[in-house]
Amino acid sequence: MSLIPGLKQAITDHDGTVYHLHNHAIITEEISALGQQERLFKIRLLSDRPLNPANAARDQYETRALAAFNAGERERFRFEHLGTGYLFRYLAPLFVTGECLVCHGMQGYKVGDVRGAIEVMIPAENVAGEIFQSRVYTLLTAGAILALLLTGVIVVSRKYLRDLAESEKALILLATTDPLTGILNRREGMHRFQREMTRNEREGREMSLMILDLDRFKAINDNHGHSAGDQALKIVAATIAQGLREYDIVCRYGGEEFLIVLPGNDLNGGKETGLRLLEMIRENKLLLDDGQRIKLTASIGITSLKKDDTTDSIINRADDAMYKAKSTGRNRLCSL
Ligand code: GH3
Ligand code: MG
Ligand code: MG
Repeated sequence: MSLIPGLKQAITDHDGTVYHLHNHAIITEEISALGQQERLFKIRLLSDRPLNPANAARDQYETRALAAFNAGERERFRFEHLGTGYLFRYLAPLFVTGECLVCHGMQGYKVGDVRGAIEVMIPAENVAGEIFQSRVYTLLTAGAILALLLTGVIVVSRKYLRDLAESEKALILLATTDPLTGILNRREGMHRFQREMTRNEREGREMSLMILDLDRFKAINDNHGHSAGDQALKIVAATIAQGLREYDIVCRYGGEEFLIVLPGNDLNGGKETGLRLLEMIRENKLLLDDGQRIKLTASIGITSLKKDDTTDSIINRADDAMYKAKSTGRNRLCSL
């Protein structure tokens, strides 16, 4: 039966042949039936002034789409989550053409008006699954790239920091030690001595200081060569360092001169250490490459910290004491 008053969908002619009217609405319904049969899609025609009540909007999404199309929007779509999967809904407006007016002219439509909408519904479990999967892949790939990048940054920056720390250490070592003997150089020795002086002023502690100079060292160079002299200097430096406490300070003060600071030691304590060092150096006879042994001796000038002393005044006194040791026969310790 036709939904449009006066419109006949099937006409039988005089010899019994039946003619069917297939307008847009009917063809759409037939296509939709085929789509549903194959579980592929469903098509609906929508109208806000339906002749067929089945074509009225059934939910808010359709109602809103019709209103939006009347206001000029040209399409709407969304994924709808159903109990077990997704449904893809696509809606587009239908416009009145001349042919439409055959059936809908009496509803007051004009050519170009929005007549309603067509809605296509496609079950989208697979599509949604693929979208989800591709999102997971994208996330995993992005995560892996990020992790790789981060690892790279960490490895490079760790190596850079390690190199930097090592270079800094090497630089500090270079700036503070004497390259031949490996003990503190004069600059660093003086710096630490100065620091000790300041601390002593604050705490009023004892301190003794000595200058140790190798005896007749020029003769070693002259008779056995410069490298034998170098070797002797290394041995003496190591011997002095070995004979001192951890917090004593020793530096190469000049060519074959060493400055030794003994914090917390008075003159007698300092003398004891000085005599022990002389003994150790004497015992230390230098063994040359040719198997020859050279006897090494040193002279020490020692003094202790007095009131109103400066770094210069205490060093000058130790120096004077050392010259006293030299002028009175060498291989001895003198104090002032
Ligand atoms: P004295 O007992 O009066 O101290 O006599 P000396 O020969 O030790 O004194 P002098 O100051 O005349 O000579 C010091 C020598 O030390 C001169 C120099 O060639 C040597 N000397 C200084 N630095 C080095 C060095 O790094 N290596 C070597 N092999 N010799 C050095
Ligand atoms: Mg000397
Ligand atoms: Mg000297």
